[in-house]
Amino acid sequence: MKPPSSLDLLIDALRRLPGVGPKSAQRMAYHLLQHDREGAARLGTALTQAVTRIRRCALCNTFTEDELCATCASEKRERNLLCVVETPADQLMIEQTLTFRGLYFVLMGRLSPIDGIGPKDINLDRLAQRASDGIVNEVILATNFTNEGEATAHYIGEMLKTRGLKVSRLARGVPVGGELEYVDAGTIAQAVLDRRSA
Ligand SMILES: [Zn+2]
Repeated sequence: MKPPSSLDLLIDALRRLPGVGPKSAQRMAYHLLQHDREGAARLGTALTQAVTRIRRCALCNTFTEDELCATCASEKRERNLLCVVETPADQLMIEQTLTFRGLYFVLMGRLSPIDGIGPKDINLDRLAQRASDGIVNEVILATNFTNEGEATAHYIGEMLKTRGLKVSRLARGVPVGGELEYVDAGTIAQAVLDRRSA
């Protein structure tokens, strides 16, 4: 059997992107090779650089090129408040409301038994350790208001309460089934201010 051609390898690599099937991967590959070879080279370099340089923040688990991300390294943040979000995009949404001055923990996912995603897959051991630093005294659960987000919040809430931490959940300003990423900043700001004990 002859080894796969460079074109096959490229198409196969593009298929790793979410929502990209064989047909679109093939279209993308042809497009890059035919019309945008410079763009293709840039994409390659950017990917290599990102994969080499970007790692997880030692405190909050988000993406960073340094030991600590800019938020965790900032002296202006309140270190007793920890807000738990599913993704860096959700963190950004809460940042944009300007209502929260504490620190974050980014799960990089949510519990989803159907997809085989359990506590270990979303770094809950690290969260438990992080929240038990003796400085954090309130953890705000800002996972999405989807079924999985709610289940994740419940699980984390129980886990942290047994460690004696105060746990709160974003108020219900965010619609049921709502993903923070798609909710307007004003609504999220209100949900942070009106957070309730979990
Ligand atoms: Zn950080």
